[in-house]
Amino acid sequence: KHGSGNQYRACIRDSNQKDGEALFLQENMIREALTMRWFTLYLQPIYLANSPNLDAPELLGAEVLIRLEHPELGLIPPNDFIPAAEKTGQIIEIGNWVLEEAAVILCEWQKQGFSTRYLSVNASVVQFRDHGLLHQLESLLERYPINPTKLVIEVTENLMLDNEESLRYQLKEIRKLGVNLSLDDFGTGFSCLSYLHELPFGTLKIDRSFVMNVETNPRDKKLARVIVDMASSLGMQIVVEGIEQRGQAEIFQAMGVRAFQGYHFARPMPQKVFEARFSPAADT
Ligand code: C2E
Ligand code: CA
Ligand code: CA
Ligand code: CA
Repeated sequence: KHGSGNQYRACIRDSNQKDGEALFLQENMIREALTMRWFTLYLQPIYLANSPNLDAPELLGAEVLIRLEHPELGLIPPNDFIPAAEKTGQIIEIGNWVLEEAAVILCEWQKQGFSTRYLSVNASVVQFRDHGLLHQLESLLERYPINPTKLVIEVTENLMLDNEESLRYQLKEIRKLGVNLSLDDFGTGFSCLSYLHELPFGTLKIDRSFVMNVETNPRDKKLARVIVDMASSLGMQIVVEGIEQRGQAEIFQAMGVRAFQGYHFARPMPQKVFEARFSPAADT
């Protein structure tokens, strides 16, 4: 049977496999995962850290990171199936499911009194096709009594080159709904600074590739500072992701950055673990 997970795993490892065949196996796997409800959400905390309390940072929100929990293969990371899902168009169904789940989480947080906590959701450029994402968000806000400003949509910088007109229009309309927009992976692609002030991004996420060597490479540190200064002068919020060392956070703190995400603070964790840690049922 083509949908078998072992074949899928073998297949993506086999470089001799024809691309078409690999995609076919992945497509079946994803369809099975959608039907069998194997997708699951991990949440990674995003923290506010001021100099005095780097050790006791305050939770600002979380990024939603999808995984495929296969009964035989275990946890499959998004980089192993999102690219295929984008090629087949299945990312639209996956993305809509993620948004529904995110809305439910936000509702729950609001009920528990965590009204300032936000949830950041990754969106693929494919979801913007035919204004799909815009319509999905409109529908979501009609059906769930959530504060739209607590929902953040992360869009990858590289994708901004695609189908510009429609994308620009939708980003502006999404912003009009009150939903916030975050420019993800900043610094990895064709950093076209000109669109930063034209497009309604409230937040810029500085990519891990800038963070990795910021302690040792003066050039990376200079670039990081330029990005931070530019984003600040445009009035954007900055989140630095991929912080693995305390020293990395300290360098960005000295530049004025306050929001951090990374293994040093917390790894992505199953939604239930996150809730147990940050939304204790008792005494709310
Ligand atoms: P991303 O949006 O850049 O997400 C950050 C990735 O960095 C996550 O990998 C996260 O687990 C990882 N990360 C966080 N902190 C650290 C750190 O300190 N060190 C290191 N080495 N890594 C860190 P993950 O969860 O494997 O996700 C990979 C990518 O898959 C994401 O990159 C995003 O582009 C995509 N993705 C995840 N969930 C979704 C989704 O629901 N929809 C779409 N369209 N894409 C998603
Ligand atoms: Ca992201
Ligand atoms: Ca990112
Ligand atoms: Ca990324």
